[in-house]
Amino acid sequence: MQHSHTTTADERQGIFHAIVASVRDYAMFTIDLKGLISTWNAGAHQIFGYRTEEIVGRPVSLIFTEEDIRAGAPESERERAARDGRAIDKRWHLRKDGGRFWADGVVTPIHSGEGCVIGFVKIMRDATEVQRLEEERERLLLAERTAREEAEAAISARDAFLAIAAHELRTPLTAIVGYAQVLERRLSHIADLSERDRRALHAIVDQSDRAHQLIGSLLDMARLHSEHDRLSLGLIDLCDLTQQIAADVEPLLYAHTIAIDCDGPALVLGDPLRLEQVLQNLLQNAVKYSPDGGHISVRLSQDEGSVLWSVSDQGVGIPEGVGGRLFERFYRANHTTGVPITGMGIGLYVVHELVALHGGTVEVASSVGGGSTFVVRLPRAPGS
Ligand code: ADP
Repeated sequence: MQHSHTTTADERQGIFHAIVASVRDYAMFTIDLKGLISTWNAGAHQIFGYRTEEIVGRPVSLIFTEEDIRAGAPESERERAARDGRAIDKRWHLRKDGGRFWADGVVTPIHSGEGCVIGFVKIMRDATEVQRLEEERERLLLAERTAREEAEAAISARDAFLAIAAHELRTPLTAIVGYAQVLERRLSHIADLSERDRRALHAIVDQSDRAHQLIGSLLDMARLHSEHDRLSLGLIDLCDLTQQIAADVEPLLYAHTIAIDCDGPALVLGDPLRLEQVLQNLLQNAVKYSPDGGHISVRLSQDEGSVLWSVSDQGVGIPEGVGGRLFERFYRANHTTGVPITGMGIGLYVVHELVALHGGTVEVASSVGGGSTFVVRLPRAPGS
């Protein structure tokens, strides 16, 4: 015969005590209002090392560290628990053998039937390993942050050095290129100049120009990364800027011709020096990758939100399949015969980065032998 059995209050109490007593991973014990330990479970024995009969009736401060006792932690923990209903207890505690462990626990008040606080229960576990891992993680994070900061400092020192070195090298080179060109022009009229001298002079002009361009690329890149060199934005008419730059680069166009096509102002919010650098790099490439006598055109147009700034040449073009890699640092498309290999693959990278800094994009349309058109798209100035 089966009969149902309802547990009595005493039985329930017994079961509860049995559970508490058998829990091993958690220390569970009670503290009376005077701060004396009143019960102690097996988990507490295991974690702290005290047997029940050794500790019951003794002050809870036994398990606190000296610093915490001096700071009044045992009392303030109970006050907080009584006031707030619980007090989180994450601190170093002392074992019987004097060893410390990191405890993660909570103290809660025990209420009488009338609602008065008659003691406290403290439940905690040994979280030393968790804490150790946490500290290790913090240490690694800190080490990683320090290493990154050091690397960043080293990189910016390198960029600053490169910028200074490139700038200092470029100044004398600019003078050499300029004077060599003047000399070549003057001496070309002298009839009895030997062919050897003429070639030597031409080599000086050619090579110094090449070195000048390489140093220019280095300077561009160093400046791009130098943190002191941020954009200083202003309202710019790209049409004006283009006319001005075209006039400036005229002497560098050699045997090429240039046409500018713009109908009305093309206003953008930009840094004039950086945008000048963009156009100069595109023009330099148009000259470099076109045969003498080639025609270059710069066109400005607008659509709803953008100003389109395109530079076209009738040069060697770009092999198919190169795609966006053209704008990567140090990338150089392999042209077939007849193309001078003078660059470092920096110019278009700088163009791409500067345009991106202005919130724009750059694309190229090209075919081998059919010339190239680079299109820079920049956001129109607000209200224009
Ligand atoms: P580089 O210093 O080699 O000219 P860039 O970054 O300016 O470096 O250009 C990368 C490559 O893109 C060049 O090596 C060249 O192959 C190709 N390129 C750039 N502009 C043109 C152009 N107008 N016509 C044909 N190829 C070009």
